Amino acid sequence: AIRVENLHKTFGELEVLKGVSLTAHEGDVVAIIGGSGSGKSTMLRCINFLETPTSGRIVIGGEEVAMRPDGSPASRRQIEHIRQRLGMVFQSFNLWSHKTVMENLIEVPVHVLKVPKEEAIERARTLLARVGLSDKADVYPAFMSGGQQQRAAIARALAIEPRAMLFDEPTSALDPELVGEVLNVIRDLAKEGRTMLLVTHEMKFAREVSDHVIYLYNGRIESGLNKSYGIDFV
Ligand code: ATP
Ligand code: MG
Repeated sequence: AIRVENLHKTFGELEVLKGVSLTAHEGDVVAIIGGSGSGKSTMLRCINFLETPTSGRIVIGGEEVAMRPDGSPASRRQIEHIRQRLGMVFQSFNLWSHKTVMENLIEVPVHVLKVPKEEAIERARTLLARVGLSDKADVYPAFMSGGQQQRAAIARALAIEPRAMLFDEPTSALDPELVGEVLNVIRDLAKEGRTMLLVTHEMKFAREVSDHVIYLYNGRIESGLNKSYGIDFV
């Protein structure tokens, strides 16, 4: 489970998150929507401390991240531990461009998590098959379509065997005809009961795959019916 309590984040004068709380229970898919600049990415980035929260509590799998008064994590090691449990997929595909797809998938398992290389390769092959990229293991990212790169990025996030997945608009940088193939992969993950936080502009999809849809507005989570989105919030 992922629990965020009263999260605040300020950039200089700009108060982006004004006390956001949410819980994704084990197996929950929580979709997060909201206008551009509403703080969706900032919220996801605070959850794995790519951004330093100004204040608030973050609890991942029962483990609370100890923060200093300034919001920075008290322990590097704990943050590394937390990041190893969260697979993050960004809008831009973020694969390492000098590594092949296979090298991208085994890098962290082998060098950080100390998984034996053969085992990591075996697992990577299974994941590549899952996302429909069995024939791309030895290819460099630049030689793949955006949709293929994003599916590889999802496979890479899964390669660490995360407890939960964080998706930040995983399809918004894709040409329209490539969106479907990435949504299909995410839909499968949702069905198998993975805990996920999914920031997306794909409203229909959000509604279809998620257990809850939350709406971030003016630094807070709005509940209730939002007519402009036509969604019942839970
Ligand atoms: P989008 O839908 O466009 O991705 P978002 O909801 O993800 O938007 P954020 O990227 O979280 O929005 O940004 C929220 C606000 O915080 C914006 O006004 C942005 O300019 C500001 N912001 C984000 N990161 C920083 C930063 N590192 N320094 C200063 N301001 C920032
Ligand atoms: Mg964003």
